Amino acid sequence: MRYISTRGQAPILNFEDVLLAGLASDGGLYVPENLPRFTVEEIASWAGLPYHELAFRVMRPFVAGSIADADFKRILEETYAVFAHDAVAPLRQLDGNEWVLELFHGPTLAFKDFALQLLGRLLDHILAKRGERVVIMGATSGDTGSAAIEGCKACDNVDIFIMHPHNRVSEVQRRQMTTILGGNIHNIAIEGNFDDCQEMVKASFADQGFLKGTRLVAVNSINWARIMAQIVYYFHAAIQLGAPARSVAFSVPTGNFGDIFAGYLARNMGLPVSQLVVATNRNDILHRFMSGNRYDKDTLHPTLSPSMDIMVSSNFERLLFDLHGRNGAAVAQLMSDFRSSGKLSVDDGIWHEARRLFDSLAVDDEQTSRTIAEVFAQTGEVLDPHTAIGVRAARECRRSLSTPMVILGTAHPVKFPDAVEKAGIGRELELPAHLSDLFDRPERCTVLANDLATVQAFVSRHGNRGKPL
Ligand SMILES: *Cc1c(COP(=O)(O)O)cnc(C)c1O
Repeated sequence: MRYISTRGQAPILNFEDVLLAGLASDGGLYVPENLPRFTVEEIASWAGLPYHELAFRVMRPFVAGSIADADFKRILEETYAVFAHDAVAPLRQLDGNEWVLELFHGPTLAFKDFALQLLGRLLDHILAKRGERVVIMGATSGDTGSAAIEGCKACDNVDIFIMHPHNRVSEVQRRQMTTILGGNIHNIAIEGNFDDCQEMVKASFADQGFLKGTRLVAVNSINWARIMAQIVYYFHAAIQLGAPARSVAFSVPTGNFGDIFAGYLARNMGLPVSQLVVATNRNDILHRFMSGNRYDKDTLHPTLSPSMDIMVSSNFERLLFDLHGRNGAAVAQLMSDFRSSGKLSVDDGIWHEARRLFDSLAVDDEQTSRTIAEVFAQTGEVLDPHTAIGVRAARECRRSLSTPMVILGTAHPVKFPDAVEKAGIGRELELPAHLSDLFDRPERCTVLANDLATVQAFVSRHGNRGKPL
């Protein structure tokens, strides 16, 4: 499989190189040159497969030419064996024809494990083959950091540096990162906010001299492999609910448009997806686009669903590329205008085309709390605030009651105890068994000043399994 940039000017890469690449050199994002398309018969024949075997069939075309079948099979089996539920991604019924796809049975209790558990193993496999080592730098406001660290902790060829804003992540989230003590794991608490952390990652990608030739890799959702891994569970859920004979709708709590973009790709690969609901919190740039063709940058509003607190959605460019007939020059122009004006809208016809598949809703904190309470009263299920937003949007935007509606359950409620308490659920949630001693484990973390040179010097001194690069 070959990969091209959404802005049309960067080198074409194979899977191996796309895995190691961050942004394309023209500022765009990598996408497959040709999306595989499965027949109805093929999809029907996958009914009942274990998760890792379905994953092999769905993702095989994307890695073709870079990873041998036998290796890929083994890697997938190992990846999804670490999930705590035998079904890996079980469906739980909420109402007549409404389901939550529980994506929070991985090591860090959020859906990001699906991609990052795989990404770590793929990276290590390819690096071992090449005899290379890399450094990963990432910024996190919570979920991404712990999932990336868990995904890379067993990697022999990767050192990972994750920055979080000092004293500004929840204790559960911090401990999920800082209690992983491997010699290649480096937690940095920055005396600043999340944007400061993210700026330092960006600056480090722009000027890599401090790495002395070691390659720097990105693990945020611009990395193609993360999107790829997320396509699988759309197939998994839909097939269980009767696809390909029957269509299925999905509602997806969205920030960077990564997870829902995977659903869009699943549909283009032949899965009968009749509707995709974009569910945002008050940071609603995607809802403003879907409802009124206005993708305009706003200020950041902190909410009960922090993993969706974004100002712009980095993966939206991948959708724009398709909507514009995969014309890289047109996308480059749109993005350059957006950079200078903070505003973007598309031609009417193009917007109507998007609206054939996508609906959207922005859900504020009060409605989020009410939905958690409502679902608890109806079913006894406790939702996390992100999933609750998905449920609210599904219920408001649903086009057909006879089509199964699947809400992506993106996190375990125990990660967001304050939101659950605010909803008036007077029940203490327990950490799952593998995290039950989280509060007793020793932590390791370095607090650093909000200063680029200080951070880069730290990476340079510790980037080779704790030793200097
Ligand atoms: C990251 C995250 C999201 C948003 O995912 P995107 O791919 O950025 O749309 C939603 N919910 C939770 C719990 C997350 O961690």
